[in-house]
Amino acid sequence: MFLILFGAPGVGKGTQSEKICAKYNIPQISTGEILRAAIVKNTEQGRKAKILMDKGELVPDDVILGIIDKRIVQDDCKNGFILDGFPRTLRQAREFSVLLEKHKIPNFRCIEISVPDEVILERLGERGRDDDCRETVLKRLRIYKDQTAPVKEYYKEKNAFYSVDGNKPIEEVFNQIIELLVD
Ligand code: AMP
Repeated sequence: MFLILFGAPGVGKGTQSEKICAKYNIPQISTGEILRAAIVKNTEQGRKAKILMDKGELVPDDVILGIIDKRIVQDDCKNGFILDGFPRTLRQAREFSVLLEKHKIPNFRCIEISVPDEVILERLGERGRDDDCRETVLKRLRIYKDQTAPVKEYYKEKNAFYSVDGNKPIEEVFNQIIELLVD
């Protein structure tokens, strides 16, 4: 199962991908988590990324694509993986298609978790991460609308786009996703 979980920050991508991964025994690949791990390790990549992440800005496409390129060829990805937080720009989506072809990965699906903005703002306000102060959250939502939302159209054109209502209890959102995965 090869899947992108798509949606604005705070819609529950992390929570749902953990549940899907546990059910299907495949890894979750979160570019945000990989970057946060690099920050903890204090690598050069981590230090550079932190400056952008703290401001709510995106890390450059080439850095992100490098991370993905290395990660998806690892052994645990053979039977599938879930992407959480990638692709976030049209360029990432396009380059990712090239990678999928190169690695002969078929049937990639993109599932959006859709949640109204007011609910997202409430949820992120409660999360308390470094990049969750209100101003930064608003910036991340704006960047999502400007740069990430167009990625939807890309997968719609490929007939690979699905959407679920994320403004529901965790189990209900999970069941909606599972239904889409049964073919
Ligand atoms: P996340 O945990 O997915 O909310 O990501 C936290 C932060 O990491 C984002 O606000 C970005 O600064 C950066 N980041 C994560 N994934 C990407 C990506 N695919 N492209 C660009 N920046 C990213």
